[in-house]
Amino acid sequence: MSDVFDSVLGDKRFAENLRSMALSDNLAQSYLFVGPADSAAMSAALAIASWAVCDNNACGVCESCKKVLRGVHPDVHVYEPEGASGYLIGQVRGIIADAQRSPIQAKRKVYLIKDADMLNASSANAFLKTLEEPPRDTMFVLFASSEQAMIPTIVSRCRIIGFSAMPMEEIVDAVCKKTGCSRTTAVVAYFQEVGNVDKAIRFIADVQRQNLRRQTIDLLGSLRTLSDWEIVKRCSRLVADTQKAAKELDAANEQALTQNKDFLTAAAAKELEIRAKRASSALKNDLYVGVAITVQNWLRDIVYSISRGQKSLLEDDKTSLTCPDVGEEIADACMYLSLDDAVRAQALCGKIATALKYNVTPETCMDALFLELKEVLYDSGRSR
Ligand SMILES: [Zn+2]
Repeated sequence: MSDVFDSVLGDKRFAENLRSMALSDNLAQSYLFVGPADSAAMSAALAIASWAVCDNNACGVCESCKKVLRGVHPDVHVYEPEGASGYLIGQVRGIIADAQRSPIQAKRKVYLIKDADMLNASSANAFLKTLEEPPRDTMFVLFASSEQAMIPTIVSRCRIIGFSAMPMEEIVDAVCKKTGCSRTTAVVAYFQEVGNVDKAIRFIADVQRQNLRRQTIDLLGSLRTLSDWEIVKRCSRLVADTQKAAKELDAANEQALTQNKDFLTAAAAKELEIRAKRASSALKNDLYVGVAITVQNWLRDIVYSISRGQKSLLEDDKTSLTCPDVGEEIADACMYLSLDDAVRAQALCGKIATALKYNVTPETCMDALFLELKEVLYDSGRSR
């Protein structure tokens, strides 16, 4: 019998166990999934959500199950922190209020709360009551990096399941299977999305992100010969493309809002508008972080290749790269670089990635990143 529990990644015995608990109606109402973000944990949560809304035991093929997997089921809600430093109290109040309402289509409602360790004390306290006495038709799955990161009163209300990081090979296999892409493409996506299965799968279909990565690699490859002015110009293009992506999201959100205007109260419309704004600025930031990750991966491959000796960067070694699709370009770049400079550039890139995380005007970060990289890599007087 095939069902959504087959698509739970990681330990097969765990998936089997989860299925038998679901089929005997022994699932808990509140779970705390502890371990690395997404990976196997998200696939298990989605299986639970399908079971909760499917009339046919998480069959995986009915309209409800498909909606869960596509992320569009009206009774399955996924939350992420919307504030820079975590969940906003308004967001948590929204979840609590929503949990009191009846399901729209299914017999149950499911709330998947990502980064639950980013619920601060007042949000967590507000949420506690709902977890203590959850409405009968609701289920909660909270995700956290560790149990210690959570407020103990929340932990004690949940059934806890620990997840360990999935090995890279398993994630790459899962990405290939899900998208039908080549192993090389899956490895690129794995490293670009820092080992997050869901994001890696999305990356494969995301033209914008791939285009930004391509532009970044082209820019890195030509840093040596570009003038500062040309570098700034290329950075402006990166920034413009990033802003274009955010504008497209704005337009889509605005259209959705206009379409639903008649059904929404003024307060709800305002709330949606604020959420849309946050989503578009989060997207922009995420795209910039993606650029920084591409740079880090490229440098990591340079360091790896130089330390292995450039000549040996043949087929065998390419399988160890984070950017195996551009192995030749990396080998070319290595001819002009020293190990010391590449290592110094890694440190610099780490600093800029941190600045991006704290949202220090990303546009300026881009110029600074590439101009300083050029200086460290090629103008230090120590390069060959
Ligand atoms: Zn189903």
